Amino acid sequence: MHETKTFPDPIVILGAGHAGVAVAAGLRTQGWDERIVLVDADPGLPYERPPLSKELLKPGSAGHATPLRRAGYYEERGIETLLGLQATSIDADNHTVTLSDGSSRKYHRLVIATGSTARALRIPGGDLPGVQTLKTFDDATRLRGQLTKGARIVVVGAGYIGLEVAAAAAALGCDVTVLEFQDRVMSRVTSEPVSRFFEHHHEDHGVRFVFGAAVTAVEGTDRAQHVLTADGGRYPADVVIAGIGVVPNQGLAEAAGIECNDGILVDEHGRTSHPAVYAAGDATRFSSPFDGSSLRLECIQNAMAQAECIVHHILDKPRNGTEIPWFWTVQHGVRLQTAGVRHPDDELIVRGAVEDRKFSVVYLRKGRLSAVDTVDSLKDFMAAKKLIGAGASLDATLVSAPDVPLAQAVISSSSS
Ligand SMILES: Cc1cc2nc3c(=O)[nH]c(=O)nc-3n(C[C@H](O)[C@H](O)[C@H](O)COP(=O)(O)OP(=O)(O)OC[C@H]3O[C@@H](n4cnc5c(N)ncnc54)[C@H](O)[C@@H]3O)c2cc1C
Repeated sequence: MHETKTFPDPIVILGAGHAGVAVAAGLRTQGWDERIVLVDADPGLPYERPPLSKELLKPGSAGHATPLRRAGYYEERGIETLLGLQATSIDADNHTVTLSDGSSRKYHRLVIATGSTARALRIPGGDLPGVQTLKTFDDATRLRGQLTKGARIVVVGAGYIGLEVAAAAAALGCDVTVLEFQDRVMSRVTSEPVSRFFEHHHEDHGVRFVFGAAVTAVEGTDRAQHVLTADGGRYPADVVIAGIGVVPNQGLAEAAGIECNDGILVDEHGRTSHPAVYAAGDATRFSSPFDGSSLRLECIQNAMAQAECIVHHILDKPRNGTEIPWFWTVQHGVRLQTAGVRHPDDELIVRGAVEDRKFSVVYLRKGRLSAVDTVDSLKDFMAAKKLIGAGASLDATLVSAPDVPLAQAVISSSSS
């Protein structure tokens, strides 16, 4: 165990998800040898979430969670874990957290990494058995058990998670219908060409889409049987999956008087409005270092990057560069990788052949590269990450030629 050396109280981390574990691990790796306490409401060994909608739902899946760190890791590094305990309140002025067993912990620094909660279907029948969201290992296990051949699966919401579930269910022989309010898939995160590509890709695997669908109720006696839409649609369902976004878990921070606005507000170091309290991951909102826009990002890269910023700030160590946001999703074996954050008004250029399933969509804002979506185009993804970071402006004609490497389309960059 690590003995107390300088500070009587530990660094307490609320939430042992991707961000919380990365803060604990990063502090140890970077040389913090004082006490660290990691608290999570979930009693199990902290695990990764991306496999819950991918590997875990695959035919023949082993059905195990993928641990973020192996058993024994925390003890070996002197990270005290309090698993199965929820933090119920924070007294920021007195540096104290209260836990669900009634105990309280003093802290030297507090890190709130409580993640987000999947938005539930708040409509009549939305609480019937058979209706669920996908956030935890238990959710994934329950869902996997119901994805049997011929089962009728209605997915509400064609975002990343809804589409990954649709792909997994189709691969398991289910009858899959996706109901989406917008007129295309992943409309919040990508452009029309990418949406249409994935729509057709899913249809090729037997998934049906209904766009413009406003879901109004789930009907059933003992469990879900039909999903109703505003236009009179009635879709038979054995299982209903709501993939309609997440809500940041900011309640603890808000009640403690820490500034929140659809996310706990943090600066570039992960600091909240209270000097001894940091926050990271899905629970936070921050200003983009690239264009100043207000962002709430639900992805591993953001959780890890913010964790790293916090570690460096606590240890008063300089940190090199700012990593640009990136995301990925895998649907029916096709990987979409996105670098940067696109704005709907950005100019878009398609590179490569959509029909060959190897293409990129490049987004330019007043000539400057803001984001790229790549399908099986790792080179463009890697190049774009660097170029966005460098503030590169690109020649649109050269960008549209897929044989010209993106780096050769650079006209100027703000870092040169
Ligand atoms: C099914 C699924 C698939 C995904 N796929 C991808 C993907 O392919 N790529 C990608 O980049 N991102 C993906 N994501 C998103 C990614 O998992 C999240 O962005 C990431 O987990 C955020 O990390 P976090 O630490 O902020 O939150 P989490 O990892 O959610 O961890 C938060 C933790 O806080 C705990 N907690 C909450 N409240 C309290 C409390 N009061 N007291 C104690 N503990 C508390 C929770 O139990 C939880 O363990 C996926 C998410 C899901 C659900």
